Amino acid sequence: MSDFIISGFHEPVSLPSPLAVRHAELLQLAWLELCRFEYGMLDLQSGKSSQAARELTELGRRTGRLSHPEARQRTAAYTPAEGHEHCPRCWVREDLRAPLAFESRGSVDVASCGCCGAQFQLALG
Ligand SMILES: [Zn+2]
Repeated sequence: MSDFIISGFHEPVSLPSPLAVRHAELLQLAWLELCRFEYGMLDLQSGKSSQAARELTELGRRTGRLSHPEARQRTAAYTPAEGHEHCPRCWVREDLRAPLAFESRGSVDVASCGCCGAQFQLALG
């Protein structure tokens, strides 16, 4: 782990661990999934046939309901656990804990969900 020095200060500042970075990225992705949910809802309400709207139509058909307050609550509660990180998309949309598989591809890590098929690119820690 490398330290870096802020000029003028003499205390080394520790960088966050790769795991902390990964979990912060997954948290951001959960909020992005909520945004997708929100603009999908807006598109549905205004009769636009965007991809986000079509995904929500399909989700509503499959699960029997679409609740924005619940999706929001789940997003706020999303907490990836070390070694058991779950898919932010499945969690936010469907309340499912689908495990993510991580794979290193060149300069990025890719997290894949076997349940919804989502692939998330993460910076290497
Ligand atoms: Zn998923």
